[in-house]
Amino acid sequence: MDQDWNLETVAIQGGYSPEATEPRIVPIVQSTTYKYDNADHIASLFDLDCADHMYTRISNPTWDAFETKMANLEGGVAALATSSGQAASTLSILNICCSGQHIITANSLYGGTYSLFYNTLPKMGIEVTFVDPEASAEEIKSHFRPETRLIFAESIGNPGLNVLDFEKFSSVAKEMQVPLIIDNTFPTPYLCRPFEHGADIVIHSATKYIDGHATSVGGVIIDSGRFDWNNGKYPEMTEPDSSYHGLRYTEKFGNMAYIVKVRVQLMRDIGASLGPMNAFMFNHGLETLHVRMQRHSENALEVARRLELHPKVKWVSYPGLPSHPSCDRASKYLPKGASGVLTFGIEGGVEAGRRFMESTKLIAMVVHVGDVRSCVLHPASTTHRQLTEEQQIESGVTPDLIRLSVGIESVEDIIADVDQALALC
Ligand SMILES: *Cc1c(COP(=O)(O)O)cnc(C)c1O
Repeated sequence: MDQDWNLETVAIQGGYSPEATEPRIVPIVQSTTYKYDNADHIASLFDLDCADHMYTRISNPTWDAFETKMANLEGGVAALATSSGQAASTLSILNICCSGQHIITANSLYGGTYSLFYNTLPKMGIEVTFVDPEASAEEIKSHFRPETRLIFAESIGNPGLNVLDFEKFSSVAKEMQVPLIIDNTFPTPYLCRPFEHGADIVIHSATKYIDGHATSVGGVIIDSGRFDWNNGKYPEMTEPDSSYHGLRYTEKFGNMAYIVKVRVQLMRDIGASLGPMNAFMFNHGLETLHVRMQRHSENALEVARRLELHPKVKWVSYPGLPSHPSCDRASKYLPKGASGVLTFGIEGGVEAGRRFMESTKLIAMVVHVGDVRSCVLHPASTTHRQLTEEQQIESGVTPDLIRLSVGIESVEDIIADVDQALALC
């Protein structure tokens, strides 16, 4: 039923429909366990013959409302909540890829994801090839190996804020018969729905715009239900799982197989589970997603325009600006707005960047984006300070780069704060 509603209605009322006298608001089910009347019921839970809740490491009614709402917002068939965005990307990959196999990723990535792919997956025996997202389809295809199991990319990449060429990536994925996994954290489903552009699986750091108020860390994996796992490459999906008496996920669960497997196998064994309270906060945040994303995008565009005119500002990068290399793609894939994050370069290099960041008053210095409150970071003197200047430039972080996550305060107050800080630089 939720599927017929427009996105704004799903954001508010999706995922939970109480019966008479039940709570109007999704309850926080702060319980590890659930009670049963007979042993057969529990046996059927363990055999996966029944989908009732068993243990809050694997499922929980408060997550359930959040998962259903997220699946509906993205237009997918099912979702799994996770303890963080990092857990979501890790589990989304481990669900279909194991030691000895290989993945391909766009190289414009969030720092934590870069580290996961560069350091941790290789330690687990999964090789990772990083490709320039602007490389041709032919070049991306040339990196495929018989053991390649997926392609990964962000819909808006870090730190250049490049908008992904979904058409190119999804056609390569389709031709090579592997799923395309998209990190859709920056746009959220309000601004971009990757399944409409050929993605197969979407992950989010719910910590950012889904929460929206900087209260909780969490993540979510959503499956489109469209990828055909029966192509010989994914025996874990199609062949018997000995940990469930030889059950075959695709046979038993059809197009829900991917999410059922990641829940009952990897969440069971690894346990990167979301706290019920955090799921409640995400449900609450989602209720204003459409209003917030609209305002974040409007404010960011206005701040970007004004920065472009400022004499102390050397350059501004925001996909909604005509000067951005991804501008045409932003109009195609992000027609409702390009989200709240922008970067700019300031005259005077590292010292001036540092001074700017220390001089803003309304705009707080924090290591975060996606909050209703505006925030600022100068990566060269903070998150990227361990790197040499060459390494910084290689990863796209020039000494003068400042990242602004534009909040939904009065845009005039935000601009006044930027102006007074620039005057001190
Ligand atoms: C923050 C972020 C992550 C990681 O999410 P956590 O919730 O911090 O673990 C992944 N991808 C993107 C694009 C992010 O901004």
